[in-house]
Amino acid sequence: MSQTPTRADFDRYMVPNYAPQQVIPVRGEGSRLWDQQGREYIDFAGGIAVNGLGHCHPVLVDALKEQAERVWHLSNVYTNEPALALARALVERTFADKVFLCSSGGEANEAALKLARRWAFDQDGEHKHRIVSFGQAFHGRTFFTVSVGGQPKYAQGFGPVPGGIVHGEYNNLDSVRDLINDDTCAVMVEPMQGEGGVLPGQREFLQGLRDLCDAHDALLIFDEVQTGVGRTGSLYAYQQLGVIPDILTSAKALGGGFPVGAMLTTDRVAPAFTMGTHGSTYGGNPLASAVALAAVEYIDTPEVLEGVQRRHDLFREHLEAINARHGVFKEIRGMGLLVGAEMSEAWRDRAKDILPLAIEEGLMALIAGPNVLRMAPSLVIPEADIAEGMARLERAVARLVAAS
Ligand SMILES: *Cc1c(COP(=O)(O)O)cnc(C)c1O
Repeated sequence: MSQTPTRADFDRYMVPNYAPQQVIPVRGEGSRLWDQQGREYIDFAGGIAVNGLGHCHPVLVDALKEQAERVWHLSNVYTNEPALALARALVERTFADKVFLCSSGGEANEAALKLARRWAFDQDGEHKHRIVSFGQAFHGRTFFTVSVGGQPKYAQGFGPVPGGIVHGEYNNLDSVRDLINDDTCAVMVEPMQGEGGVLPGQREFLQGLRDLCDAHDALLIFDEVQTGVGRTGSLYAYQQLGVIPDILTSAKALGGGFPVGAMLTTDRVAPAFTMGTHGSTYGGNPLASAVALAAVEYIDTPEVLEGVQRRHDLFREHLEAINARHGVFKEIRGMGLLVGAEMSEAWRDRAKDILPLAIEEGLMALIAGPNVLRMAPSLVIPEADIAEGMARLERAVARLVAAS
């Protein structure tokens, strides 16, 4: 039998593009995880907004097991029942008429950007290729998506970057007025910036983008990779904001932990992806599609979505209580169960120092940049786990304060 892997094996065998924590979780159930030593953790990180139903939710386990005994993979030379059922479910529940399936958020955004360019090319020729996005935006790690993203560090050193991409300021419509013109094919935006600091987009800003896109015959792309599939308390965030995009991308919670992504669009735009223009070996994989269908059907119910709103209020109350005692936060914000706590001036950029202390106290959390503590727990996290997780978070915060 081979030896049990340890954290040292990461440094020995893995490319050093990550710096994982020292603990290695080996088992999860609901909102709890256990590491190799049997220590238990409450999970407010949710695999970075992926584990929408926590760990090993029986509905997802059943969907995966059932499909695992039927057919795993066919390629897109054939279609398959789970992929068709997933596409139909997404169309029936959203603005979309057509779906492209893939395996990640970056891949969904890559498809969205290529579709927008191709659509505009067919409309008006190659000059209509300009893409507007935003500072601090995050759209994935493919070369096109790091270029469209608004964090230069992710594209640095990989140049030359693709041309025709410009960045405005998030929640500043005037900055977009200066950038958009008839050569623009698309505006790509997160309805709430996730990695960029858990910053909700203002409704007037997003509606303004819609109007500017209409005025210049450009497509509005909502990147809902992080905000989608119940995270904000509606299936997709656009549904409560009341601004309808032309293209929407989804991944992360879509598979609840199984790699899957989707690009949704309308009958006006979809035909630009004619036979052979784009593809993906794993796109529409039956295992991924079966799990995603189960996740969407389970999450898109009033019980689960109203529960997200209720839990949002609980998270806020707990964080405000912690802040009342320790005064480390400037602002608590977010939508649904994507919650951010920005550090106060005196604690600037110290959010990242809370994480290792929280792990010692038995809590997993996230940051969004060094200055924002981020939480993206299971959408069905029990209230008792929220209370216990917050008690552990408070102990971590108290230790940060005491050590300074
Ligand atoms: C995580 C994320 C992505 C990238 O998704 P991957 O699955 O890592 O490729 C894209 N956009 C947003 C908003 C994200 O949060």
